[in-house]
Amino acid sequence: MKKVIMYHARRHIPLVGFLLLLSAVSLVAACAIAIIKPATSHGRAPQVSLFGYQVRYPVANGTGVDSLVRSYADDRVDQFLSLIGDARYDPRNKLTIGYTLNHKGKRTMTATFDEWQQIIKQPTTILSTTMTYDLVAQKQLSIADVLAPDADQKGTIGGLLYDYFKQHGVALSPQQYVNLLQFKTQSVQKFWVNSDTITFAFNPRQLDAKDDLDLVTIKKQLLGDVLRPEYATSDPGQDVSVKSDFIINDQPTVGQQIDPNGKLVALTFDDGPGPYTLRVLDILKRYRAHATFFVIGRQVTGHADVVNRTLADGNEIGNHSWDHASLPALSRSRLDQEVESTQQVIQSAANGYVPTQMRPPYGSVNNSIRSYLAERNLKTALWNADTLDWNTPDSSIVHDRIIGAAADARIILLHDIHPWSVDAVERAIPELVAAGYQLVTLSQLEQYR
Ligand code: ZN
Repeated sequence: MKKVIMYHARRHIPLVGFLLLLSAVSLVAACAIAIIKPATSHGRAPQVSLFGYQVRYPVANGTGVDSLVRSYADDRVDQFLSLIGDARYDPRNKLTIGYTLNHKGKRTMTATFDEWQQIIKQPTTILSTTMTYDLVAQKQLSIADVLAPDADQKGTIGGLLYDYFKQHGVALSPQQYVNLLQFKTQSVQKFWVNSDTITFAFNPRQLDAKDDLDLVTIKKQLLGDVLRPEYATSDPGQDVSVKSDFIINDQPTVGQQIDPNGKLVALTFDDGPGPYTLRVLDILKRYRAHATFFVIGRQVTGHADVVNRTLADGNEIGNHSWDHASLPALSRSRLDQEVESTQQVIQSAANGYVPTQMRPPYGSVNNSIRSYLAERNLKTALWNADTLDWNTPDSSIVHDRIIGAAADARIILLHDIHPWSVDAVERAIPELVAAGYQLVTLSQLEQYR
């Protein structure tokens, strides 16, 4: 009751204006409503009704969140009163604010305020505002407060959207699918935190558009570390879920489906594993792309983890000799050492994986090398587009050469040991995917072309 009285006091309505402009009956009625429904700290809805406005808002738990909620309501009333100005006692001016308590747990509370405002000679405005509060930290939360700072880089949300849309055969253009993968926190216009899910309102097809919003509900468990730890766990409590367009409750399962009628490109990375290989793997994974890595045998030692990750992501590993020797000049025993010891080191690093492609260093090859490799079930793997990235330390030129080389059945030569090559690939891969290219391994390309 105290809270409501204070609330009235804040309005500070002059008594003369009161009596002149308002009938005694409506005065009594207005006060009665306000007094009958006092604010309590037990979750009963306070309701304030005075003259032309009626405001209802939820009560959290008697903490600082309550004053945040009430100051929101106060601000809306203040704005309404300033809009109607001198006509504040004209009962045709009306403001009604109601709410839905979407969630109230121990950690967070989400409420949707529905506001209906009618001012004479002006169009009626309807406003729906959703707010989430942290009941422990006693503050209002933005989406950036809920998501981890590196959520966009991690790409988890975009990946879930992409896989879910693919799994359900949602017809989107390649560019729209890339847009999904490039999900950005800032594109979220509204969000709801429930006990076990988070719902985002944004346009998943065109992430920069402000209109035509869709609601996507994702289980907290699937979001994992892209949520800040305090919001990542279940927060059981009252739940009134919003009606969502897409509900992602389980990890979407999508196998890599290659459309043989589409355009295929094989990116190949030579001379690794190196310090930038993991970055290349992250970029490929993010865009659901695959590539072939021609590794140098002696560098595989000590990098078994990189080799295994490369394969686990669905990429291919090829043989690029033990120490980058030009093969045609070698004696038979040196040749064995270059080729077979590399096969063996890959096999033992990668749980028995046996490469089927050999890229001769410098592309130096002759018929006797070809038949030597063929006897060992190794294909001679050359390329048909060279970026010359090794002697062009400029990511923008290398990027342009990748894009310029792109055409169906192209095998593009790159090196994952140069940072500028990785920068170039980071820009080029989403562009290639958006242009409809399927980035496949060399063996996949050979299977279809
Ligand atoms: Zn090489």
